[in-house]
Amino acid sequence: MRRPLVAGNWKMHKDPDEARVFVEELLSAAAGGEVEVAVFPPFPALTAAVEVAAGKLEVGAQNMHWEDAGAFTGEVSPSMLKAVGCRYVIIGHSERRLHFGETDEMVNRKLNSALKYGLKPIFCVGEVLSERESGQTKAVVARQLQQGLRDLELSSGKELVIAYEPVWAIGTGKTATVEDAEEVIKGIRNNIARLYGNRVGEAVRILYGGSVKKENSGELTAPPDIDGVLVGGASLKVQEFAGIIEGVRQARRR
Ligand code: PEP
Repeated sequence: MRRPLVAGNWKMHKDPDEARVFVEELLSAAAGGEVEVAVFPPFPALTAAVEVAAGKLEVGAQNMHWEDAGAFTGEVSPSMLKAVGCRYVIIGHSERRLHFGETDEMVNRKLNSALKYGLKPIFCVGEVLSERESGQTKAVVARQLQQGLRDLELSSGKELVIAYEPVWAIGTGKTATVEDAEEVIKGIRNNIARLYGNRVGEAVRILYGGSVKKENSGELTAPPDIDGVLVGGASLKVQEFAGIIEGVRQARRR
């Protein structure tokens, strides 16, 4: 059984004090263990979030460089993230691809590096609107997977999380239908099984992301193949994020 994961990507929001208050208030909603909860603050707020989380929920970073050290002004390395207590790192978010020129090749380097340093990547894939409208969703996601996972060795599959995030659904209030999300996610799992074998395919967790809120988190995680959600805007308010966690918890109990 794969444990569902609810991940909150704060993007460029919340300073260390705000992170501390947020995590403190979230602890009771994250308790119980049925659903794994992780928050992704901006770099300066990571330490504060880790301190208050105290192992009761997970903390991760939104990005990293693939090198461990060097002349890369403005970048942060995987070992630095480990040192401040991160367990997860988001890799290949569409905003990184769109605004910061991240290519599939860079994503691939980052994925390899994250695993090397013992961080669990949440590897984001997904099509833009024109690709969806021209029927290319499956091909785009398959390309992102194939190029992103190049030379990536997986042992059990538990060390990798994939997030299917249709780019047109991010921050727009539009969500994929459950049927569409399920179809793409099943395709991703089949791809993983083809590359790494059935055992790994069954172990990798695959999330849906794109305008998830408390009203739809249960519905979106009802299919057994959808192992949780990656949430942006709605992860910034404790009550809303707690509602999303509860929706996923209830969906798994049904
Ligand atoms: C995201 O940034 O990964 C995301 C899914 O954003 P939102 O929930 O705001 O659509």
